[in-house]
Amino acid sequence: MPKIKILSADVANKIAAGEVVERPASVVKELIENAIDAESTSIRVEIRAGGKRLIRVSDNGTGMQREDALLALERHATSKVGRIEDLERIHTFGFRGEALASIASVSQFELLTRTADALEGTKVDVDGGVFRSVQESGCSPGTHMSINNLFHNVPARLKFLKTDTTEMNHITNQVTWAALAHPKIHFSLTHNGRSILDVRSCDSYLERARLLYGREFAENLIEFTEELPDLKMYGLLGKPEFTKSNREYQLFFLNQRPIRSRIIGAALTEALDAMVAKDRQPVALLFLTLEPETVDVNVHPAKIEVRFRNERTIYSGVVRMLRDAIHRAKYIPKIETPIEPTQSDGDVESRDVSLPQRVSTPGSLPVAGRRQQTTPIAQAHRSQTSVGTPQETEDNDQEAINASGTQMPSTPTEIVVQPPQQRMPDDANLSLLDFENVQLKTNLFKTYIVVEAGDRIFFIDQHVAAERVLYERFVNQVETDGIPVQGLLLPVTLEVTPQQLGTLKIHADIFKKLGFDLEEFGGNTILIRAIPSPLPTRVAAQAVTDLLDKLPEAPHTDVQIPEAMDSALITLACKSAVKAGDTLDTKEMMNLIKELSEAKLPFNCPHSRPIIVEMGRDELERRFHR
Ligand code: ADP
Ligand code: MG
Repeated sequence: MPKIKILSADVANKIAAGEVVERPASVVKELIENAIDAESTSIRVEIRAGGKRLIRVSDNGTGMQREDALLALERHATSKVGRIEDLERIHTFGFRGEALASIASVSQFELLTRTADALEGTKVDVDGGVFRSVQESGCSPGTHMSINNLFHNVPARLKFLKTDTTEMNHITNQVTWAALAHPKIHFSLTHNGRSILDVRSCDSYLERARLLYGREFAENLIEFTEELPDLKMYGLLGKPEFTKSNREYQLFFLNQRPIRSRIIGAALTEALDAMVAKDRQPVALLFLTLEPETVDVNVHPAKIEVRFRNERTIYSGVVRMLRDAIHRAKYIPKIETPIEPTQSDGDVESRDVSLPQRVSTPGSLPVAGRRQQTTPIAQAHRSQTSVGTPQETEDNDQEAINASGTQMPSTPTEIVVQPPQQRMPDDANLSLLDFENVQLKTNLFKTYIVVEAGDRIFFIDQHVAAERVLYERFVNQVETDGIPVQGLLLPVTLEVTPQQLGTLKIHADIFKKLGFDLEEFGGNTILIRAIPSPLPTRVAAQAVTDLLDKLPEAPHTDVQIPEAMDSALITLACKSAVKAGDTLDTKEMMNLIKELSEAKLPFNCPHSRPIIVEMGRDELERRFHR
């Protein structure tokens, strides 16, 4: 007897349901996506018992005719993808044509729908994948899907559902993300008749964020738009002092679809590394727009994960755009030391009160945010399937700690990183870059140049500043006349490993462009005959070794070549720059400040360490109780 059987449609649907319908929140997600695809401007979600008893999603979109309503419940029934080529350019949220069939196979399902021009609507009932009835029925234009008793016929699945509260948190997350991604659509969500959220249609993501997370949250965001040839990003980035202890408020959207992405998460960390204290996480809502051809959204049944055709380009593009945005926002880390209020000194205390940012240690939630922890959205955000949250369970645990308040740092001296525009007139930032208005004061520990500008004191790290200036100069020179070269009277010999020699051959071009003249001298020895002129001769050999170690042993793609060059320029800048501990005279310091004031990105070195730290006169005055 043959062993292979073709599965019945019912079994196939149930299997598909296992992938698409993990829990009530996945149903909500699919139904919302369908409603959005149907051009709805208002979507209502009603839940009972965490979605176990009822999930109802009503929209005012196009609705369906009777034939379509029946077809919609068939497996692989979709109005959205007709040919395989369409998969390359997916503009709709749905395309697999299996959501409704899957959901209907594991629930008591009712579809009620009417197109705007039809006199009557259509009602279709399906129970556990078995068609029950179709009839005419009155309803408002649009589609109303009711899912009763989800998984009633799949006890194994039912067993895995969590408490109503947990399931509801997941649902709230889904609705929140959809609402963030589609500010123009009105969304409402109720649980057991109680309103959980209700956000009116609005014009901007920022306004939507305000409606969802509250005024204080929105006020702590910096809004930006950046654009590269194939990649656009709109972002809402938390101000540096408004950070979190986990990634729960890092939400990424790709072409308006909430996605999970390690690549974007890593890019965010990389770009903000210098700005955010080590144990803190930035708040970031990032909305990316990419040509649909360059991304595969069909790698995950619920389409939460995506595959970028070129991950490295996305990564470096996102890092670059974030850095540009930060640069434009003039993010300078600021030294501020929370002072423990002295009981006897009413004056100091009252100042504390008038400076709320100072009291809030880095990343502690603003008052509204903390209050929100008890609201469903905040609860929902504590739940496990946070999109864009790579370490889900860890985050969850951490958040539990947060909620109990134990994560609050209480050390009296805490460096608060904060953008200067908080308490300064906008043009004040520019004075930093306005070389004429900067006075050189001194150098501390042969490492930090101290300058005064108006009411502000800046500490500039001489090594990273020089590194930044040299890096920008090198980038420029490589693109134009080349980096100037100095011939060595006595060539320097260098022993290398066979691997390094291999790397050298692969990247001979880069070495030449940097201004090195290297010659194989037999065996594993090379001769350094000329070096880029800003590089001190004494570090020539070390610079070559470092470069050989930094450069990839074999570039895999063309894209990696500019990246390899960039990393080579960074290494060269680092090796050529003055070090901490080097003595600089006044002229050298002035030159450095001048060049820094002309740099494109004066706030971070190419490794993204901060170059400048600011302290206000007010900080000193506070310290001295003036
Ligand atoms: P997909 O979204 O992948 O096409 P679904 O199973 O989710 O597959 O839906 C099947 C079809 O049913 C859709 O292609 C669409 O034509 C129709 N449909 C589903 N939901 C709605 C809705 N809310 N309004 C109008 N049409 C809908
Ligand atoms: Mg769908």
